Amino acid sequence: MEFDTIAAISTPMGEGAIAIVRLSGDEAVPIINKIFKAPVEKSLLEVPSHTIHYGHLIDPRTQQIVEEVMVSIMKGPRTFTREDVVEINCHGGLVTVNRVLQLVLNQGARLAEPGEFTKRAFLNGRIDLSQAEAVMDLIRAKTDRAMNVALGQMEGRLSRLIATLRQEILETLAIVEVNIDYPEYDDVEEMTQQVLVEKAEYIKSEISKLLQTSQQGKILREGLATVIIGRPNVGKSSLLNSLIQENKAIVTDIPGTTRDVIEEYVNVRGVPLKLVDTAGIRETEDIVEKIGVEKSRQVLKEADLILLVLNHNEELSSDDEQLFEAVKGMDIIVIVNKTDLPQKIDLSRIRELAGSRPVVTTSILEEQGLDELEESISALFFEGSVQTGDLTYVSNSRHIALLGQADMAVNDVLTGVENGLPVDMVQIDMTRCWELLGEIIGDSVHESLIDQLFSQFCLGK
Ligand code: GDP
Ligand code: ZN
Repeated sequence: MEFDTIAAISTPMGEGAIAIVRLSGDEAVPIINKIFKAPVEKSLLEVPSHTIHYGHLIDPRTQQIVEEVMVSIMKGPRTFTREDVVEINCHGGLVTVNRVLQLVLNQGARLAEPGEFTKRAFLNGRIDLSQAEAVMDLIRAKTDRAMNVALGQMEGRLSRLIATLRQEILETLAIVEVNIDYPEYDDVEEMTQQVLVEKAEYIKSEISKLLQTSQQGKILREGLATVIIGRPNVGKSSLLNSLIQENKAIVTDIPGTTRDVIEEYVNVRGVPLKLVDTAGIRETEDIVEKIGVEKSRQVLKEADLILLVLNHNEELSSDDEQLFEAVKGMDIIVIVNKTDLPQKIDLSRIRELAGSRPVVTTSILEEQGLDELEESISALFFEGSVQTGDLTYVSNSRHIALLGQADMAVNDVLTGVENGLPVDMVQIDMTRCWELLGEIIGDSVHESLIDQLFSQFCLGK
């Protein structure tokens, strides 16, 4: 494929002092060569691939030195985009970097659109769609655990799984094809149906295994929407503050995107907690009085996790009981706070109300019980899946939706056979399953979808 040469500021993750201007395309090396001057004269057109060069950038119009730089030359196809890639490392702030970018654009590069580097990697066949989406997840990852999931996906773990499943389907379809070509043999028909059922059941179980990880995957990706509730003065604000202090808050600041709500994330043992609308919580201290109000119910309904705080030093009130009522059927952790003060609360009654849900006792004042709290948060969402390393999580909602549809298609295969439908009818559903799985990795996806997906990216990626 032929593309023009693009450029953008592409600051490495977690790095502040150094900024990178990245170019990709046929003209990348000639462009940098026109403005680069090394202490000992050399042409970047002739240097070996994957080498780094120290020198200065010169504005050709004024012959002025613009910036001291390190330039990496990487020739395609052994690059992320499979095209020639040049990275200009410059230290210094926004002004310098922008000047370097401007200089490069003046020489004929075009400013890249958000995600365009990754899009090229996809279009040039370097990565498939699920890997491209993983790049985006990686940029947005909020904890190491989330980052590992994205990395696994970027390395193509999900892609390989999907490819294997599709291969199985193709083999099955081949057998069906034989049956359609030789309809006169009765036992072939019977055998074909048996193979179809076996394969369909196998594929169904693999799909549901993947779908089972989607809950955790989604949490890792988007954070666990967490709401702290409780009567006034039980210690909600104290809990919030201590969670934020103990677990360095993750401030999301995705370049190139606007955010209308400020969300606070804290990293609790690899689980990103998204403290939902914390400003709202602060305002609705008296959530009990307002619990009838539709809005507070809405906040509760949208939460993945509710931390219900009670006071160890006071008897359980009818307000507390109402709170239990309001969070029926939700994931809650009951926190009995202020254990440094004498016990007045009836703990056995609380256990009764909590049922199978965890009850943790804390003294936030004396920093007691917070470890147990974090442990139960982590256990609640990663029960039985200790190693994130070897599990393929499906976290992307597009993938989850497609897997759900593929699951329905494979169900249709099974009910079709059961109801004695002719194999060529059943074959249609099996083929649909194959196509749906293909969409996950970008086979047969529509061009407008590709544009839309890549437009969600950040600049410079
Ligand atoms: P909120 O109204 O639920 O947000 O409660 P706050 O976090 O504002 O706390 C109310 C009061 O209880 C404050 O004076 C806190 O210092 C105090 N407090 C919070 N946690 C504890 C605790 O574990 N033990 C004791 N003794 N006091 C606490
Ligand atoms: Zn408060």
